[in-house]
Amino acid sequence: MWVDSHCHLQDLQDWESKLNLGIQAGVEKVICIGTDLESSIQAIEIAETVPERIWASIGLHPHHASSGTDNIRSLVAQESTKQNSQVVAIGECGLDYFYNYSSVEDQKSSFSSQINLANEYDLTLVIHTRDAWEDTFDILQKEGIPKRTVFHCFTGGIQEAKVCLELGAYLSFSGIVTFSNTQLLRQAVEICPLDKFIVETDSPFLTPVPFRGRPNDSSNIPIIGAKIAEIKNISIDIIEQNSWKNTHIVFEIE
Ligand SMILES: [Zn+2]
Repeated sequence: MWVDSHCHLQDLQDWESKLNLGIQAGVEKVICIGTDLESSIQAIEIAETVPERIWASIGLHPHHASSGTDNIRSLVAQESTKQNSQVVAIGECGLDYFYNYSSVEDQKSSFSSQINLANEYDLTLVIHTRDAWEDTFDILQKEGIPKRTVFHCFTGGIQEAKVCLELGAYLSFSGIVTFSNTQLLRQAVEICPLDKFIVETDSPFLTPVPFRGRPNDSSNIPIIGAKIAEIKNISIDIIEQNSWKNTHIVFEIE
C-alpha cells in the first residue's frame, strides 16, 4: 500500500474519481496540500469528506507570501480547537527564487512565521524550496527546525540531501526522478536512508514519464516507487513498505 504524501486534490477536476483511481493502484491515503488561504480551507473540507484516507496541510506557498500569514494563523488556531482536526501539517511554505513571484523579504518572513506555527502547534512542516537552499537552511536553523519536517519534491543533489538529513528532515521524491537529466537527484535518492524518504505526486503537476503531458494523479505513485527501487537497486516492495511507514511517522497519521 502507498501514500501520496503531497497532492493538490482541490486543483483536480473531479478529485473523488482521481482518489479512486489511486485506490485502485494501491494508493490508500493522501495528504492534500494548500498553497493559500482558499486552497487550505478546501484541503480541510476535502479531508473531512473522507477522513480515513485524506489529511490536510495548510499554508502559504512562497508565490503567495506577500498576502501575509495572519489568515493561516487564524485557521490553524481554529483547527486546533476541533476534537478531530484533519490538519496534520503547515505548508507548503518556503522560498522560491526561481520565480520570485513575491519579494525575497516577504518570502523569508512568511517562511519564518510558518516554521513558528509548525513548532507552536506541533505540526509537520512541508517545505517548498527552489534555487534557495542556503537561505532555506539559514532560516530553518534560526527559527528552529520542527521535529517533523519534509522537503517536498526534493530536487537537490547529495550535498543538499546530506544537510536535510542532518537536520533530521525527510526527503519526498516525486515524478521528477523519472525525468532525464536528473543525475544529481538520482544520486541523492541513492544515498537517502530507507527510513528517511517518502513519495508524492504533487498532482496535478509533475506527471512522471511515460505519461508526460497528461494531468497527474495519485495512481502514478507506484511508477515513482518503481523508479526509486531501480535507482536504489532494491525491490519495489521495500520502497512501498518503507514509504508507507515513513509517511505515517512524519505526518503522525493512522
Ligand atoms: Zn505542491
